[in-house]
Amino acid sequence: MSEVKRRDLLAGAAALAGFATVGLLPGTAAAATRQRPGALRAPSLTPGDKAVVARVDARRALRHLKVLSDEIGWRIAGTDAEHRAAWYIQRELRNLGYKVQLQPFPVPDKVLAEMWGRDNLHWQSAASLQGGTGAVKADIVDLGDATTVTTDLGGRIALFTRVTGQETAQAKAAAEHGAALVMIVNVRSTTYPERKAASFVPVLTESVGVPVLGLAEYHGAELRKGVKRLSVKVTKHTNLTSYNVLAERKATLPNPGRKAVIVSAHYDSVPGSPGGNDDGSGTVLCLELARVLRRLPTQQDLRICLWGAEELGLVGARHYVKQLDDAAAARISGCFQNDMVATSHPPAGTYWLLSVDGAVNTTTAAVTAAAERLGYTGQTKGPVARGSSDHEAFFERGIAAGNFSWRGGEAPSQLEPVYHTPEDTIANNISLQRLQVSLELIGCALYEVARHK
Ligand SMILES: [Zn+2]
Repeated sequence: MSEVKRRDLLAGAAALAGFATVGLLPGTAAAATRQRPGALRAPSLTPGDKAVVARVDARRALRHLKVLSDEIGWRIAGTDAEHRAAWYIQRELRNLGYKVQLQPFPVPDKVLAEMWGRDNLHWQSAASLQGGTGAVKADIVDLGDATTVTTDLGGRIALFTRVTGQETAQAKAAAEHGAALVMIVNVRSTTYPERKAASFVPVLTESVGVPVLGLAEYHGAELRKGVKRLSVKVTKHTNLTSYNVLAERKATLPNPGRKAVIVSAHYDSVPGSPGGNDDGSGTVLCLELARVLRRLPTQQDLRICLWGAEELGLVGARHYVKQLDDAAAARISGCFQNDMVATSHPPAGTYWLLSVDGAVNTTTAAVTAAAERLGYTGQTKGPVARGSSDHEAFFERGIAAGNFSWRGGEAPSQLEPVYHTPEDTIANNISLQRLQVSLELIGCALYEVARHK
């Protein structure tokens, strides 16, 4: 984690107290012309850029991230924790003066497990829909990568290393030999061996009478350091509702075409992961830009959209675009999706512009131009073709959209090793400097689109 040192932020705060329009920020104009964090060239900023750069502050965004990732933690679509995050985001945006609405939509049933052990151990994992539910407190028997069991497990917890394709055999063998609960520790994929294995949902070909958990690699490694006993509660969640949090501020200048520009992120996370970088970082980028842009003059409506249930397959964003009639869809000039915008993983030092078809659109062009003005010419990559985040839903509806994030320099598939794992925490996986750069790039790009017809 690296600190952003910027005295000019103070100048920005002082100017903010006195002036609300772009043309009246003499105090910040000079401060914002300093070299931007990590930039190789001097900036050449427009008055609009200066208004954004003088105000955005990664440390303010980090305060929101502490609530979402450290306090609330796992934010699984449709669960109470995801709802707490939605209420928090809604309240913050209302306090900033936005008109905010929660847009509900259904999400599938799921089984989740919580685990407690010595030294404040408290974890979550996904569990099989074909296994049982309930509470178990028992000792652990480590069976390694066995697929058969010969000893009596007498009400204990069976711990396996996953043998892909043999999960049913492992679960059945343990249940038949008296296990009260089965834990299967995930193994790394051959496609992305650099990524630690995440919690997973064991899909069984027949039902097993006891709970069957899919643990992350991290969980398995920690248990094998000598955890002898666990308390586990396994719950089936049904009739679930997730929400998009939709905030809007109308254009302050005439907007005859009723144009709107969107900045977005998803606030849910995967089982077991506190979603620090994925996508707490994008969520708090949106909250900080909402604060900075709320009083700046624009010719387009400004929408801040935080999607639920992205991790289940872009469910929230797809629901949002489905609700738009054709005229409403045509009025959206672009959607800037921010997914994983602050990892501290050293090799993930390239800021990527991703569009579903790899083509330039309003959002990627605006970020490219903002990068040049901020002094990052040649330091970003793309646009290249990649979906796998909520911009895909907009692309499918014919709306300009891009996804923006930090990744390895060789290819946008190069993510941090703790991606989707319990270690995606602020402490392990957040760089304040990268968050600041993301804020400046998207803030300047978004405002440049918003302030023109
Ligand atoms: Zn994500």
